[in-house]
Amino acid sequence: MKPSPISATVDFDKDGVQHGFLRLPYSRDDSAWGSVMIPITVARNGKGPTALLTGANHGDEYEGPVALMDLAYRIDPAKLSGRVIIVPAMNYPAFRAATRTSPIDRGNMNRSFPGRPDGTVTEKIADYFERILAPMADLVVDIHAGGKTLDFLPFACIHHLPDKALEKRCRAALRAFSAPYSVMLLEIDSVGMFDNSVEAQGRIFLSTELGGGGSSSARSNAIAKRGLSNVLIHAGILKGEVETSLSIMLDMPDGDCFTFSEHDGLFEICADLGAEVKQGDLLAKIWPVDRTGVAPVDYHAKRDGILTARHFPGLIKSGDCMLVIAVREG
Ligand SMILES: [Zn+2]
Repeated sequence: MKPSPISATVDFDKDGVQHGFLRLPYSRDDSAWGSVMIPITVARNGKGPTALLTGANHGDEYEGPVALMDLAYRIDPAKLSGRVIIVPAMNYPAFRAATRTSPIDRGNMNRSFPGRPDGTVTEKIADYFERILAPMADLVVDIHAGGKTLDFLPFACIHHLPDKALEKRCRAALRAFSAPYSVMLLEIDSVGMFDNSVEAQGRIFLSTELGGGGSSSARSNAIAKRGLSNVLIHAGILKGEVETSLSIMLDMPDGDCFTFSEHDGLFEICADLGAEVKQGDLLAKIWPVDRTGVAPVDYHAKRDGILTARHFPGLIKSGDCMLVIAVREG
């Protein structure tokens, strides 16, 4: 395999705090020998485990960048045993453009793994995480939210894994994060995800969906900040006590948890996130956008559970993910 074209301006083996960049050469019209400069912080104090903390894997999700900018700014190596690597915006070009995918190559970072050292900009970044950063880490926390088109109940999540011993360690990290909800997430499109790449390397992987709509809130930012510090304490990297609170454990047993729109139109949501719903309950209507006097199309709950995610914009298209229901674990 070719070496990565990305070079780090930080030394991963040095004690103390360093703020620098992952520099990826990117020749373009406005900068012939230019680079993409991805901010990174490394904080280390002696031997111990390594945590890799990432945000803006999708460029329009903000709790990760907010909580990680804050952590990078105030992290004190004297309180650490081990190493914390912080990348607030993995898909940095997408983050700067406030879009889910990269404006350079339309690359969706979380569908680009394992990446390629000789691929697109997005694939080169993915490859660096796959071959350089993830192997350094004992655990990875990747903070997501719904972006501009989805809104979620605030949850942290892990996956059912074939390696049950690893799943158990992931579950302990999930409990330590202590988001208001904890979900065993069923992925509908898992090829190329960072999640699988880290899990396949036998590392603890924790993700989140903490809100959405293309911004963040005081509440969702606080959940991200507390969750990250809880996980670092749980891993033995940061001194302190894990601050847990009630977290409702949810599972997603099958594809009936998802409802996709089969119509274009004006979206009327009929239940809010967190609502306990019964199979058959009216959850949404889609009205025509071009005339009055026509009945809407009704969408009903396919199963009992808790409304966990919803389409966010006021208009909807056929194929959009409209509703997600998860069920209490038990
Ligand atoms: Zn995301």
